[in-house]
Amino acid sequence: MATPPRDALRFETRAIHAGQEPEELYGAVNVPIYQTSTYAQPAVGRPKRYDYARGGNPTREAFQTALASLEGGARALAFASGLAAEATLLLTLRPGDRVLLPDDVYGGTYRLLARVLSAWGLEHDVVDMTDPDALRDAIRPETRLVWVETPTNPLLKIVDVAACAEIAHAAGARVVVDNTFATPYLQRPLELGADVVVHSVTKYLAGHSDLVMGAIVTSDEELAERLAFLQNAVGAVPGPMDCYLALRGLKTLAVRMRAHCEGARAVAGFLADHPKVARVHYPGLPHHPGHAVAARQMADFGGMVSFEVASEAEAIRIAESTELFFLAESLGGVESLIEVPAPMTHASVAGSPLEVPPTLIRLSVGLEHPEDLIADLARALG
Ligand SMILES: *Cc1c(COP(=O)(O)O)cnc(C)c1O
Repeated sequence: MATPPRDALRFETRAIHAGQEPEELYGAVNVPIYQTSTYAQPAVGRPKRYDYARGGNPTREAFQTALASLEGGARALAFASGLAAEATLLLTLRPGDRVLLPDDVYGGTYRLLARVLSAWGLEHDVVDMTDPDALRDAIRPETRLVWVETPTNPLLKIVDVAACAEIAHAAGARVVVDNTFATPYLQRPLELGADVVVHSVTKYLAGHSDLVMGAIVTSDEELAERLAFLQNAVGAVPGPMDCYLALRGLKTLAVRMRAHCEGARAVAGFLADHPKVARVHYPGLPHHPGHAVAARQMADFGGMVSFEVASEAEAIRIAESTELFFLAESLGGVESLIEVPAPMTHASVAGSPLEVPPTLIRLSVGLEHPEDLIADLARALG
């Protein structure tokens, strides 16, 4: 049987082959780490391919090609962090433009707009995007970008990407989806009508808690050209070693995500039945308000679970009592993490519309055996 054409290959196969031909000189099956800042040029003004590594690097390019393929986009661009990717994307806007944010957007995204870019005349509004009527009402004539996150952090709210895209496009705005929590294995926003995807590669895409990186993916040629210009002109680029590690992470994304989902489902089920747990937020649970939309737009429900307990003191006590779940910020790695968002990841949004309940605990369910994780939580809950 003939191998199908490259773009017809399935997700797992593209994760390992897109942009990853064996290297020409020795046939190394891994893309080498091109640890160089510059490239010798055969003649003045005629570089072989790259002239300087801020503008381009083969290891970075391999990662970008693979990620574009997985998201179903024409082009991906990698950045030094998720926030560097977001900041570069927002630099495509102009003073007086407005960005519409969801009411529990990632805290760093909110801080970037509220405390950095507002000084440059970029304005923002905040709305509950799970309500299409509220979204429609919140879009103003100056709104250029509708910023979607789904599932959200840390409440795991689900936003209907196709519905948002329809509303935003009718009003002449582009839709950006922060796809960090779902990853393209579970959800491909460009196929649902979004214009741009942003990632904190730091999380599931890299998957091993060993680097900080970001990315933007789009099929809009004009925007891609502008972003490629800005990637070099602003210069928030990742190093080749991190691009290599992120590319290695992509190869196992599918198997990791399947296991993250399986673990999270088991943990959410355990918590839902526990007498000390007041409320579990997991889109895979049938009572979750976004369950039907999640079932439609995602392949599975992800590896993040959050839950509420009786008091803030109890939340802190539990987060400090687990042994396998490390008490730490971040998510998406092979090791399970626990945190209390209000005083930790979300401290920067205290007093803003993004404030989260102080009794909330967030889990990033890793790849340990689910029964060991449940035993750890059972012990900590007491
Ligand atoms: C972590 C995160 C970011 C920011 O990414 P960095 O790589 O930390 O800069 C953005 N969005 C979401 C949803 C995140 O979890």
